[in-house]
Amino acid sequence: KPLVSIKDVRKTYVMGHGPGGGLFGRRNQNNTVTVHALRGVSVDFYPGEYVAIMGASGSGKSTMLNLLGCLDRPTSGQYYLGDRDVSRLDDDELSEVRSRYLGFIFQSYNLIAQYTVLENIQLPLTYQGNGELTPEAQERSRELAAMVGLGDRYDHRPTQLSGGQQQRVAIARSLINDPYIILADEATGNLDTKTSHEIMEMLGRLNDAGKTIIMVTHEDDIAHHAKRIIRMRDGLVIEDGPSPRMLEAQ
Ligand code: ADP
Ligand code: ADP
Repeated sequence: KPLVSIKDVRKTYVMGHGPGGGLFGRRNQNNTVTVHALRGVSVDFYPGEYVAIMGASGSGKSTMLNLLGCLDRPTSGQYYLGDRDVSRLDDDELSEVRSRYLGFIFQSYNLIAQYTVLENIQLPLTYQGNGELTPEAQERSRELAAMVGLGDRYDHRPTQLSGGQQQRVAIARSLINDPYIILADEATGNLDTKTSHEIMEMLGRLNDAGKTIIMVTHEDDIAHHAKRIIRMRDGLVIEDGPSPRMLEAQ
């Protein structure tokens, strides 16, 4: 049974005046531009999967990940997370779904510079607005910091860490609510090759431990860490199958 199911999802951006758009969209008489970022995408994701979404710039990868991450709503189509149709939830309900079920990792880490490693890891809990953190939450953030190899740097700030270390803080942060799914958008885009593969190995271990991982990347050797590769073009899925690593293992 799928953990996530999207059915005939479309996403259309309508923009007013402004720069952008001219290259991709069509300007009509109202001087607006319509971009069909997703043009009818249906995909199921199963528990424990490790999926890479690939495709050229502008093919709709980020739009897809934003929808999967409940950061945005589809223009039409359904999105089921478990049994729940989340495509029509309001903003508050979406943010609730986000914090309970989803963890995020970004290319630019998105850490808060003034916060320590532990405070950054605790951030999703702080957003939930229950004031003081429980001793259990404190303990859990320490465990996660240690798990990503930063057990001796609880009080460091992001600027005192390397890029790879910062991304490891972000990975720990993504896990604080024990989400079903981790969504990663070009998570290694700012890292050198060696560090990138270290980060991918860490994601691989999380997947071995049962986490469902969905990532966007345009790099083949990063995508090859996943078990399944979905290719997009012009807002459509054009290919969906096992990654070469899985085929080799057979
Ligand atoms: P990718 O991640 O594969 O580069 P995107 O999903 O970001 O692709 O973009 C798909 C298309 O939608 C592109 O034409 C892009 O310019 C457009 N687009 C993405 N986000 C927005 C937005 N917020 N407003 C308007 N157009 C957008
Ligand atoms: P990335 O692909 O690195 O995740 P973004 O998601 O910010 O970057 O944007 C992806 C694409 O969508 C870019 O090509 C960008 O030009 C386009 N895009 C994003 N937001 C807008 C917007 N508000 N208006 C027009 N295009 C946008």
